[in-house]
Amino acid sequence: MNEPKLEHIPCNLCGSERSVVEFHRPYKLDTVSECATYAATTDEFQSYGRIVRCRDCGLVYTDPRPAPGALLKGYEECVDEAYLSESSSRSINAHLSLNTLKRFCRTGKLLEVGASTGYFLNAARVDFDVAGLEPSEWACRIAREKFKLDVYPESFDATKRFEPASLDVISMIDVIEHLSDPLAAVRRAAELLKPGGVLYLVTPDVGSLSASLLRGYWWGLRPAHIYYFDKHTLRRLLEKAGFQVVLSKSFGRIFSWGYWASRLRHYPGFIYNPVRGIIRGLDIEDKLLYLDTRDSIEICARKK
Ligand SMILES: [Zn+2]
Repeated sequence: MNEPKLEHIPCNLCGSERSVVEFHRPYKLDTVSECATYAATTDEFQSYGRIVRCRDCGLVYTDPRPAPGALLKGYEECVDEAYLSESSSRSINAHLSLNTLKRFCRTGKLLEVGASTGYFLNAARVDFDVAGLEPSEWACRIAREKFKLDVYPESFDATKRFEPASLDVISMIDVIEHLSDPLAAVRRAAELLKPGGVLYLVTPDVGSLSASLLRGYWWGLRPAHIYYFDKHTLRRLLEKAGFQVVLSKSFGRIFSWGYWASRLRHYPGFIYNPVRGIIRGLDIEDKLLYLDTRDSIEICARKK
């Protein structure tokens, strides 16, 4: 395949060109456009490219990075059958998000950006009139056929389906770290939300203790992620787009013990193998475990 072109970008939050390198594991250029790189359950962790921190505002991001066209192609072609194997825990996680969100908005029109196969929308449809956008044609088809959801393969910036100031909630769960222009995306969210409408976000927290301890081995660093927020940079991004943060906390999730253990696959065998052995020995691979590793941020922000 052709090697994707890499592009240099200034800081998305403050426009500065002054940055310092935090982590650097060169891209494997033969896989950076491949579907496996973009799957939620990917094993492509280690070749995450050059990650810098803005000297002026502290935003952490990948620079240089593949051009947006190469990134979008990766998402459009993404097929992730493993994502479906944890369907019961993904449904429960959707309800955890929904419980938080409903503290700030209980009903109305809800749009999910990056809806994947539709677990969150399927949970939210009880209370909200729901629709979703999702670049992966495979995920879109599952959302439409399995859950009968209105999920469209259209981009958030270009879709004409929603009027300005017409939505009560926009959700982006594990999405903003993948976007080529997060500031434009939250500004677009502000445009489409009614005054008082709620933006619900979940994203890995590069300011967390585990990110500080694991450094270049932190699970959040991966080639599909091109922005790494902490609660300060995320708040600043949202305020710049006209939002007021009304909730900011860590976000835990439920998965099977087997799935949690599989997340350690890219660590050295002396860590992964004993954990896997113990879980198999206790026969708890399919049992569910709630874990808050305190390295994902959950935010609700209200449009002023
Ligand atoms: Zn900056």
